[in-house]
Amino acid sequence: MAISCIGLKPNPLEGLKTKNGWIVVDDFLRVKENIFAIGDCAYVSVNGEVATKTALEAERQAKITAKNITRLIKGEKLLRYKISSSLKKPTTFITLGRRRAILIYKGLLISRPMRILYRIRRSFIESFMKRYKT
Ligand SMILES: Cc1cc2nc3c(=O)[nH]c(=O)nc-3n(C[C@H](O)[C@H](O)[C@H](O)COP(=O)(O)OP(=O)(O)OC[C@H]3O[C@@H](n4cnc5c(N)ncnc54)[C@H](O)[C@@H]3O)c2cc1C
Repeated sequence: MAISCIGLKPNPLEGLKTKNGWIVVDDFLRVKENIFAIGDCAYVSVNGEVATKTALEAERQAKITAKNITRLIKGEKLLRYKISSSLKKPTTFITLGRRRAILIYKGLLISRPMRILYRIRRSFIESFMKRYKT
């Protein structure tokens, strides 16, 4: 079992519908007709699943929202969001000290071999940083 201790806490918000402090969005990640909220600030619940607050989710939500904004402008039907990492079946890499990591894939804990998992995680982060030039 892996217990997340990073404790994300949203800033107080007024005038928007929130759940546990996070902005509630619909299946298309909209707060209102042409207002979107994604990533850690959003409460994303689709088909009874709730999205985790992870980089994986934030990136996927950003990509579909970019498409949906274009569709909205063109008057086309919006794409419904599909959660990849949910609270029930999370997907995430967690570093454990130096050169060790575990992978939680769709709720399944993979803890061996830790050094190889660490290398995979590192290459993920490097490719992420390259893509976004951070
Ligand atoms: C310690 C820690 C470890 C984590 N490890 C993992 C992991 O291994 N894998 C994983 O998938 N996820 C991990 N996460 C979660 C992941 O980092 C977040 O889910 C992801 O970054 C959310 O992206 P976001 O764009 O919603 O928010 P953020 O990445 O937090 O981006 C928000 C941005 O808004 C800026 N900002 C804030 N207020 C203002 C303002 N008033 N004006 C202008 N800009 C502002 C901030 O500076 C920031 O750049 C971890 C999080 C933490 C805290």
